[in-house]
Amino acid sequence: MTSLTDLTVTQLGAALAKKETSAVEVADAHLKKLDEHRALNAFITETPEKARTMAAASDARRAKGDAGLLEGIPLAIKDLFCTEGVQTTAASHILEGFVPQYESTVTTNLWKSGAVMVGKTNLDEFAMGSSNMTSHFGGVENPWKRKGDNRKLVPGGSSGGSAAAVAAHMVPGSTGTDTGGSIRQPASFCGIVGLKPTYGRCSRWGVVAFASSLDQPGPFARTVEDSALLLQAMAGHDPKDSTSAPLAVPDFAAAARTPDIKGLKVGIPREYRVDGTSPEIEALWSRGAEMLKAAGAVPVEVSLPHTKYALPAYYIVAPAECSSNLARYDGVRFGLRVPGKDLAEMYQNTRGAGFGKEVRRRIMIGTYVLSAGYYDAYYKKAQQIRSLIARDFNQAFEKCDVLLTPTAPTAAFAAGEKMDDPVTMYLNDMFTIPASMAGLPGISVPAGLDKDGLPLGLQLIGRAFDEETMLRAAAALEKAAGFTARAAGY
Ligand code: GLN
Repeated sequence: MTSLTDLTVTQLGAALAKKETSAVEVADAHLKKLDEHRALNAFITETPEKARTMAAASDARRAKGDAGLLEGIPLAIKDLFCTEGVQTTAASHILEGFVPQYESTVTTNLWKSGAVMVGKTNLDEFAMGSSNMTSHFGGVENPWKRKGDNRKLVPGGSSGGSAAAVAAHMVPGSTGTDTGGSIRQPASFCGIVGLKPTYGRCSRWGVVAFASSLDQPGPFARTVEDSALLLQAMAGHDPKDSTSAPLAVPDFAAAARTPDIKGLKVGIPREYRVDGTSPEIEALWSRGAEMLKAAGAVPVEVSLPHTKYALPAYYIVAPAECSSNLARYDGVRFGLRVPGKDLAEMYQNTRGAGFGKEVRRRIMIGTYVLSAGYYDAYYKKAQQIRSLIARDFNQAFEKCDVLLTPTAPTAAFAAGEKMDDPVTMYLNDMFTIPASMAGLPGISVPAGLDKDGLPLGLQLIGRAFDEETMLRAAAALEKAAGFTARAAGY
């Protein structure tokens, strides 16, 4: 018999609508999974009581005939979204114990649509990382393992807890944020769907800031349609975020239900064939193009000539913005305070003790590239490169409607395998960062398994604010790939 935790968001919605189950039952079934799989360390804070109260309220609303888009659906929230009355840490010691007095816009939208929160998920500290290993609360374990190898693998990052929770069926959906790949890369590592919307589609208000010109909230789910449904509930104009786009929210789920891609031009960017990509991923990418072609699309080769500059430019822009955003953690207003003999020493003690190594590294790089004398050489140059990257995409989209690329250059790796030098870790995002720099939407769809039995994702990138075309192509790819594998034991 299928259990409630086997069902997708869409299937749960249907079962709830038919009164075959209740939101309280659905919440309890998922909370039980949280208990069973606590060893994955996917959550920083679990909120079972809140989940039961919200589920009971959802059942009461439904009884009155008043059901929202996600009525009764249990969700996990990346611990970067401020949640009123519930600790929000950004996986940092400096924010440990911080209980916001307000709710982020995205989570407000989710609760308004009837969703139920089961807890706050683990992440890389302040969303800086690709493995979840920079979390102050310890790494997250990927539910997947290599065949015949019991070593623990990372779930990717930074939204690794949210991805692992969905892959382990602890929730049917969750939220993440993506600055340079933090939704798409963990989705690929965990064999699920991860969607980064166009910059400005979802409000950043109440999301702990990393790099404000790049940060964008988005959903994780096990199907393309579910990710579309979640995005529909999360998105929308927010006057509290000046970079939020004043656009109506389309029926994303309807787009995901029509995988009609006849005549759709799918761009294959030449520059994404780079050394360091696993041959299996290269092969999967070609198969993906073949699958879309068989479904009626027309693959076309395109060129994004500035691709190789995207990663280095990102590692100037993102640390620069992070150094400025994180200046607010000074021991005065938020979280941790470590006293000192005077104000300056209190700042130093607090920031020295409160931030982990990767965050300190980024703050130092950021302040360096913004300092007088270096600003023009680094920060300004990086911004100019950013314009060229955006122009590359604009030119490519004159020849195609979506782009198809790998999501990440490798499958999930073992904890510690890439920790020797930070640059190796940074390379993980080489396929996701260009779209981030240009503010474009991207989605990772699980498309196959490698020889070790680990999931691999393919990425589709869309035109700005054209998530619908991207979702149609993603649904077609999902259908053709027919990925049904599950992590053993979950
Ligand atoms: N891995 C990238 C970084 O460390 C991206 C992180 C993210 O998207 N939040 O910056």
